[in-house]
This record gives sequence, structure tokens and C-alpha cells, in this order.
Amino acid sequence: MKQSQNAVFRVDITQIEGDGDFPCPQCGVVISPDDKTEAVYKIIDTKVKKQNLEELVILCNKCESKIRLVGFVPVDQ
Ligand SMILES: [Zn+2]
Repeated sequence: MKQSQNAVFRVDITQIEGDGDFPCPQCGVVISPDDKTEAVYKIIDTKVKKQNLEELVILCNKCESKIRLVGFVPVDQ
């Protein structure tokens, strides 16, 4: 498979089991959403709709893949 620096992956967080950690689709490094150190990844974009987080775009520091995290469920009730 040809590697591209501009590869964008899409991860649906509703499909993640356990405490929310998931492997980078490109390089396999474990990304923990609770990790705020930016050692493994950094947040490059957030999309918010009506104060609900709709999408998070992160950049893997190891392989520089962009990963779009989707599936945040708005709390309506
Ligand atoms: Zn990676």
C-alpha cells in the first residue's frame, strides 16, 4: 500500500469498545482521547454544531495521518 502524508482516515467513536482508545489506522499507535499531552496526537480541528461536538480532526504525530473522529452523539434530552 502506498503511503501518503495526506491520508485521511475516519473513525466512528461509537464503534470503539472499552475506554475509547483506538489504534491509528495507518501506523497502529494507540491513541487515547483522554491523552491531553499531545505526545501521540494533536487536535487540529473541531467542528461544533449547536454546542455539540460533531467532529474532531486529529493528527497522528507518528505517521502524520489525519484522523476524523465522528459519531459524537448529541445529548438532546
Ligand atoms: Zn499514525
